[in-house]
Amino acid sequence: MTVAATERLIRPHGGTLVDRTGERPDDLETLEAVALTSRELSDLDMIASGALSPLEGFMARGDYERVVEEMHLANGLPWALPVCLAVESVPAGDRVALTDEAGRAVAVLDVEDVYPYDREREAELCFRTTDEAHPGVARLYTQKPLYLAGRVSVFERPQPMFPELALDPADTRRVFGERGWRRVVGFQTRNPIHRAHEYLTKVALETVDGLLVHPLVGETKSDDVPVDVRVECYRMLLEGYYPEDRVLLSAFPAAMRYAGPREAIWHAICRKNYGCSHFIVGRDHAGVGDYYGTYDAQLIFDDFVAHELDIEPMFFEHTFWCNVCGSMASTKSCPHGAEDRVHLSGTKVREMLGKGDVPPVQFTRPEVARVLIDAYRQD
Ligand SMILES: [Zn+2]
Repeated sequence: MTVAATERLIRPHGGTLVDRTGERPDDLETLEAVALTSRELSDLDMIASGALSPLEGFMARGDYERVVEEMHLANGLPWALPVCLAVESVPAGDRVALTDEAGRAVAVLDVEDVYPYDREREAELCFRTTDEAHPGVARLYTQKPLYLAGRVSVFERPQPMFPELALDPADTRRVFGERGWRRVVGFQTRNPIHRAHEYLTKVALETVDGLLVHPLVGETKSDDVPVDVRVECYRMLLEGYYPEDRVLLSAFPAAMRYAGPREAIWHAICRKNYGCSHFIVGRDHAGVGDYYGTYDAQLIFDDFVAHELDIEPMFFEHTFWCNVCGSMASTKSCPHGAEDRVHLSGTKVREMLGKGDVPPVQFTRPEVARVLIDAYRQD
């Protein structure tokens, strides 16, 4: 592969792909230890890999304030969500060891700043609600009272659940380059892919060189479909219904925040770092409950100046099978009524799968249904 192949891809956010991996330091034993939550660990690993470029560590006050208030970093680059490390007290030294939940050191942080923050204000501005029933807000409210900022150096990366799907931004960029892709659309999901989402990924793929199916494998709500089941669904679907040389399946290691619109922007920026020039934004992206309007995650892209994000969002309506059209469609492309459309509620689908019934092929591929039926039966 020539250098030119990856050079033709979209530039990382801020221009340079960050690499904050490093060597285990000799003075590790002498450093004060700070334990990270699972969400903070997932952010840490994404900083290390460059998925959160241009961030080189946890956010200092200037970045945090401007992100919360104006969705931009202090240097003016768009950024939608805080990436912060919450601590109980100000560390004594100017360097700390960051540990995982088991107490094992994984990184060091050079202390730049320690500052208080207002949980309710962050909730209101970032999640658009202060309701503790919102899972993202609930987690924010349990956080420690200070934010510890500074550059990190990560010497112990977590063991990926799916090693063959664990591609860092440098890896996906290399694969895109090898395949000669220049325009690549990223698809974020935390659910099994049924016909509706298969359709919109394929509509998007018709206009670009390649598709990155990038399911989130970090922490999700306990009632989401388990990640190993989802991955099996993706494999069956891609094997049966997508051209192998036009699609790449890889895991997105982020934890869900359920911040709806702001998370859609954040997800898009991350995918830009992975080399995607386009990003699919469907209805209610990264939403939860009734906290966000159906199209809020699309409308928020208008808060940025044209081309400021660089990555191009592709907005989609709800899609369905129409019996009269004889194809997948949306209200944008099909004039027929609800009676002609195949609609199954999530509850109905779960009920069918639980009983071992395969939903209609207009709703889901039988190979995907079988994976889900097996999973429901083992429960
Ligand atoms: Zn129709």
